[in-house]
Amino acid sequence: MKVPKCWSCEYSFTWKELFFFLKKIKCPQCGEIQHTTKYSNWKLGVLATPLPFIMHTIAIVSNSWTLAAVVTLVALIVYSGVIPFYMRFTKEKQTII
Ligand SMILES: [Zn+2]
Repeated sequence: MKVPKCWSCEYSFTWKELFFFLKKIKCPQCGEIQHTTKYSNWKLGVLATPLPFIMHTIAIVSNSWTLAAVVTLVALIVYSGVIPFYMRFTKEKQTII
């Protein structure tokens, strides 16, 4: 898996720099603001879609909401961990649609 690069200076971000991605991401090398591309936003949305279904399936199969909650929590942690690898940056802000 590849980490995203700055659209301006090709600086490769580290996983740690992207993990707290809720704030605006600024390139530490050239200072340009990074916007996620429409395509990477779409991919991240698709990745998150199965999570509620996984939780429901486990709860029904095992008849245990505790187990389902634990598995969902683990899935969320894994999801947050892979997010940076799916991010790609662009200069202009793009909307999902
Ligand atoms: Zn840069």
